[in-house]
Amino acid sequence: MKTFTDVVIIGGGAAGLMCAYQAAERGLSVVVIEQAKKVGRKILMSGGGKCNFTNMEIAPNKYLSQNPHFCKSALARYTQWDFISLVSEQGIEWEERELGKLFCCHSSKDIVDLLLHHCRRTSVDIRCQHKVKRVQTIDNGFTIHLDGLPELYAKQVVVASGGLSIPSMGASGIGYQIAEQHGHSIIPTRAALVPLTWQNSEKPLFSELSGIATPMTATSENQQSFSEPVLITHRGLSGPAILQISSYWQPGEALKLDWLPSEDVAALVEQWRQSHPATQVSTLLAEYFPKRLARLLCDLTGCGDSRVGDLNKAQLAKLALLNNWPWQPNGSEGYKTAEVTLGGVNTDEVSSKTFESKKQPGLYFIGEVLDVTGWLGGYNFQWAWASAWCCAQALKS
Ligand SMILES: Cc1cc2nc3c(=O)[nH]c(=O)nc-3n(C[C@H](O)[C@H](O)[C@H](O)COP(=O)(O)OP(=O)(O)OC[C@H]3O[C@@H](n4cnc5c(N)ncnc54)[C@H](O)[C@@H]3O)c2cc1C
Repeated sequence: MKTFTDVVIIGGGAAGLMCAYQAAERGLSVVVIEQAKKVGRKILMSGGGKCNFTNMEIAPNKYLSQNPHFCKSALARYTQWDFISLVSEQGIEWEERELGKLFCCHSSKDIVDLLLHHCRRTSVDIRCQHKVKRVQTIDNGFTIHLDGLPELYAKQVVVASGGLSIPSMGASGIGYQIAEQHGHSIIPTRAALVPLTWQNSEKPLFSELSGIATPMTATSENQQSFSEPVLITHRGLSGPAILQISSYWQPGEALKLDWLPSEDVAALVEQWRQSHPATQVSTLLAEYFPKRLARLLCDLTGCGDSRVGDLNKAQLAKLALLNNWPWQPNGSEGYKTAEVTLGGVNTDEVSSKTFESKKQPGLYFIGEVLDVTGWLGGYNFQWAWASAWCCAQALKS
């Protein structure tokens, strides 16, 4: 005799835990299957240990998806204010940082503890170190096949298994496999919110500058721009502006980097030529950049040790290019360091209200496994909370 749980949730991450307690609160029996030793590992490592759990400026245009309308309903029904209330009711202290990002004041663990507290309160059954291998449709529900353990039976299955980023933390493609088995298409995936790497010829030039951060505007070929700090690393460029633009960058494309977004460099150089003609360009650039970076920019623009009054036309043109510097990354650091995965389960085949599959009744997809990817800054967790909440309200008892 098979015993059917109302809901089995695959993945004990942000979306899975949120959906679990919300569904259990409605009286449903809920089992969460998590392959890692502990739930919520990405939450724990997020936001430098302080979890950037949402953003004050949540809006659909800050999400990438083949269907840009898909995220609208959930984001409107479960807003950042709903999650802020949840966090505040629990007495968790939080703070707003730049660009509307909300972080815990103490630790990311506060958010995991909050979710676990509600899961315990509502008697959610969380089973860690159990890996889901396959989901099979049967009469009245599903069989969930686990690694080396007896199978489970559920009336409904919620796939909350996340994307492919950080495989060392348990990321797996199981969600895509389950989707494909049930007739879904997958929008091709790739690493996003990820550092971009130097061409081999650039490595020796920049590697000595590793650790230097500078404000920059990075623009993709499709004219998306981000003005935030950039960090020079041994492998390439990182920092918020690069992570953000990486989601809009396609391999083989060039970016435009504005090294000095606060100034019109051509006009600035013209001023210098009037006021300080005998001063070396590197000295003048060092007012805006760390010395070593100013030196390298002089070399890259062919100015070397030239005095600003002696610059020729070609040098002037190259200096002006600092506002519009073409850079073709060699690639990205990939899933090993990416914060998120672009692409995923095709949202045209999932209800934006209930998150139920349009191909297989009783099967649901939430969080990052779907083809919805947020900007850096708390947008991805808000998507996890919102999609999970909406799904939990729609699950049948
Ligand atoms: C380093 C880092 C920092 C981040 N910082 C932020 C931030 O500050 N703010 C923000 O908004 N976003 C941040 N993100 C993104 C955010 O963590 C994710 O978008 C979010 O966790 C997605 O939630 P999810 O529940 O869909 O997937 P996940 O949180 O990835 O959860 C999926 C779970 O499913 C489990 N699983 C996978 N396969 C199986 C299987 N076969 N059987 C059983 N379990 C399985 C995994 O172990 C995992 O626990 C960060 C990501 C990383 C990697």
